Amino acid sequence: MLSLQQQVIDALRTVEDPDLGQDLVTLGMIRDLAVEEKKVTFTLVLTTPACPLQETIKQACVDAIHKQVGADLEVVIQLDAKVTSTRSHDTMLPHVKNIIAIASGKGGVGKSTVAANVACTLAQRGAQVGLLDADIFGPSIPTMLGCEQERPQVEQQGDKKYLIPLKKNGIKLLSMGLLTPADEAIIWRGPMASKALRQLLVDTAWGTLDYLIVDLPPGTSDIHLTLVQAVPITGIVMVTTPQKVALLDATKAIAMFQKPGIDVPIVGVIENMAYFTPPELPNHRYYLFGQRGGEALATQHQIPFLGHIPLLQNIREESDAGISTTWTEEAHPFDAIATALAQQVAICNARLVPIQGVKKVD
Ligand code: ADP
Repeated sequence: MLSLQQQVIDALRTVEDPDLGQDLVTLGMIRDLAVEEKKVTFTLVLTTPACPLQETIKQACVDAIHKQVGADLEVVIQLDAKVTSTRSHDTMLPHVKNIIAIASGKGGVGKSTVAANVACTLAQRGAQVGLLDADIFGPSIPTMLGCEQERPQVEQQGDKKYLIPLKKNGIKLLSMGLLTPADEAIIWRGPMASKALRQLLVDTAWGTLDYLIVDLPPGTSDIHLTLVQAVPITGIVMVTTPQKVALLDATKAIAMFQKPGIDVPIVGVIENMAYFTPPELPNHRYYLFGQRGGEALATQHQIPFLGHIPLLQNIREESDAGISTTWTEEAHPFDAIATALAQQVAICNARLVPIQGVKKVD
């Protein structure tokens, strides 16, 4: 006769994480299991605090235990999250579990807005998040986070000096715009910009992070190659608006990241400014820039589609005045996007292919 504890473990072996396609016990998602009299307690360790399936998985555990062990058992499940990584053995930034670069084909599609808001949303959901503004020629993140006047400190650690990121809205933050007057950065040549990016990445005391979000310049440039060569990255997120010109440029950028020798995974496409709903007509959607272009781009390239963001006056106002993260739960335009991104990252990591750094590409 199996012990009650063993029967519970066997029941949990029949519950799969729907995204990862393996059972919870094999995935190591069950911790601190205890069975006392008629009470079963354990901790369910999710792959991200922004897991959209947590209630579904919890319920599946309860159902499996009731069905296979005993309907009269009380099941108490605590939730915890341990963000997964395939880059932990890498020597560059070993304590940063996932580096996610936000890219776009064209400027002005809302790439920086998405980067800043997704970073803040993941931090609100309990993740440790860093945001690096690598849009060296048009750094807008300091404005979006209301810290244009602040300067990062420098700290001596052993014989090396490290930049200390600023802290805003629960995230660690660094931007070229905090180090150099805008007019100076604009006249930099490629190699100088690349050197600056390397410093921001590697000579910064980022500490332990679940996600480092990097806001890239639009298009394709030396900065993109510098990033993927300096540190192995988890993947790219492509932001686009639905109109044809933006999609054409996004296609070119996707082609660059998928080139042999670079081959960085593209973890998703986000369609920004997807539609507009006037406040006086809440049931109407006006597709000002065309409909579902981002979705079609994702399908065409077999990349996961992470969702739409509407054109909202609040988003524009927050970008100019500083993101305050005062969205209500029901009307949070970035919540579903941040969750979908965290979910895709967990799926990529579950494939357990260690991320290879990109060798020098000409
Ligand atoms: P990019 O980084 O692609 O150049 P930005 O993020 O700087 O673009 O956005 C360009 C402008 O569009 C900013 O003024 C920003 O506030 C605004 N914007 C971006 N996304 C939205 C949106 N969904 N609704 C309203 N305004 C937006």
